[in-house]
Amino acid sequence: MKKGIVWIAAISLALAGVTGEGHHAEHKHWGYKGEVSPAHWAQINPKFRMCKLGANQSPVNLNRFIDAKLPKLKIYYAGIAFDVVNNGHTVKVNTKGRDEVVVDGITFTLKQFHFHTPSENTIDSRQYPMEAHFVHQSKDGEYLVIALMFKEGKENKVLQKLLNDVSPKVGEVKKLHEMFNPGELFPKKLDYYRYDGSFTTPPCTEGVRWIVLKKPVEASRQQIVKLHKIMGNNNRPTQPLKARVILR
Ligand SMILES: [Zn+2]
Repeated sequence: MKKGIVWIAAISLALAGVTGEGHHAEHKHWGYKGEVSPAHWAQINPKFRMCKLGANQSPVNLNRFIDAKLPKLKIYYAGIAFDVVNNGHTVKVNTKGRDEVVVDGITFTLKQFHFHTPSENTIDSRQYPMEAHFVHQSKDGEYLVIALMFKEGKENKVLQKLLNDVSPKVGEVKKLHEMFNPGELFPKKLDYYRYDGSFTTPPCTEGVRWIVLKKPVEASRQQIVKLHKIMGNNNRPTQPLKARVILR
């Protein structure tokens, strides 16, 4: 008899899961405002605990510099940006093909890039109106992010190719009419800062190599406003550097 009751309970739990009616912790969303804002991320889900406990979190204010002879950044991008989506946290562009960068002798492949308005990292306390993150992963699952700052200026023709197709509707994936090599967004001079950090979104995983390009590129006010209208303020506040230094 008892066994039967347990079974019924198990079945109803399973059904709740299937129909999405269960109130499980993982169904709770994180965001940038109110009770799901960055200060509360660690409480939303135990998997997000690093957001609070981590000692090497991103973004940061880059201001404790060490002069290092950093090797020239070599970006080998041969793939394409092929679709764009507002995933509810950011506008993300998926990429395909061989887009690689080699750092520390490790090959990292570009997976996607996305935007934050305003910038998340700040340089000597200067915040830019927009920052793009190019997220790369190695064969062993290590992460490297290249951060590119945007300042207000003339229209950015490459950026416009994705702005033409992006839908504000959450989850609506749009194929790009004009696919392009993501490397076209980078400035000619690839001088950079480097530090060890984390994802700037839950689960705030650490061990991420951060490359922040020194030279910003331009985008028009209208272009930045268009992305900001879709994403809102989606910047996590800067996190303490603690024991870290920034290589330049
Ligand atoms: Zn990001």
